[in-house]
Amino acid sequence: MNQRRVSKAIQIGSVTVGGNSPIVVQSMTKTDTRDIMSTIDQIKELEDYGCELVRVAVPDVEAAQAIHAIKKSISIPLIADIHFDYRLALMALEAGADGLRLNPGNIGEPEKVQTIALAAKERNVPIRIGVNAGSLPKPSNPQLTIAQQMVEAALKQIRLLESLDFDLIKVSLKAFDVPTTIEAYQDIAQKIPYPLHIGITEAGTPRSGIIRSTVGISTLLYLGIGDTIRVSLTAHPREEVIAGYEILKSLNLRQHGPILVSCPSCGRAEVDIIRLAEEVEQELLKIDKPIKVAVMGCVVNGPGEAKDADIGIACGKRKAVLFKKGKKIGVVEEKDFLTALMREIEGV
Ligand code: SF4
Repeated sequence: MNQRRVSKAIQIGSVTVGGNSPIVVQSMTKTDTRDIMSTIDQIKELEDYGCELVRVAVPDVEAAQAIHAIKKSISIPLIADIHFDYRLALMALEAGADGLRLNPGNIGEPEKVQTIALAAKERNVPIRIGVNAGSLPKPSNPQLTIAQQMVEAALKQIRLLESLDFDLIKVSLKAFDVPTTIEAYQDIAQKIPYPLHIGITEAGTPRSGIIRSTVGISTLLYLGIGDTIRVSLTAHPREEVIAGYEILKSLNLRQHGPILVSCPSCGRAEVDIIRLAEEVEQELLKIDKPIKVAVMGCVVNGPGEAKDADIGIACGKRKAVLFKKGKKIGVVEEKDFLTALMREIEGV
């Protein structure tokens, strides 16, 4: 695994992005931002799942003004997502947004970006230049690949902000196509010092979207690229946060809650191991401890296959062995599998 790229640290409200700070997991609300109560409820749920930064869509004046009330009831920094109308960015800043996301493909004239940058600078609010392959400005040369066009669009905005002595910059270059996304990020990573927000855009429903996002995000993280991530999914945003942490945990980049090891089950299993693993997974969502839990289908291979787990269960016919760090600590009846396992986990 490559060493993490050295990026300039920026502060988004209480959260540091880039530098040596942990890779930040973020998401975006799916509620109508103007519906203040629903948006607050969704953000609070995301906070419970460990979301560290949240973005809200700001499609109109009412949504921009809603930020003021939303901010009062949430704990994590809020980023306003602005397209088309630079005046909404100014209003979002007024309302207390901790960060802005601008799409260089649709904000328009440089003077508008300049106006936003000056207002953001006054408040020490960072701006993410969020390039999206689906809404690129006209390239300088039609021969450029999509990845090159994305980099060109980002650099143009970055140079504009830099000319205003504005350097609270974060950049994203998202495409649906994974190789295009990787190529774009690899290119820009060498050209700018700013932190990178990584993700695959419009990745899809959880079934395919988590795989697509994981392939793209993990490849970049493995290359040392990425300071904050979002797994974009056509689903409740809590799924994005859960998937984000699973990616970071898989690469040993963050610890967050338990890790579940479960065997795939096979003809040797004498209980419904798939159902048991799903039930345990659901229970583990309520647990914060960074422990490894194993759910194994048989006593033959179970303890051995999961010997580095903190707590495990290896099921047999109507009975299961509980084990701790690979050592047997008791035998439980089938009706008690879940409760006995959870009791041991809570006692760790
Ligand atoms: S732990 Fe046992 S049941 Fe599960 S896959 Fe391995 S051999 Fe099969």
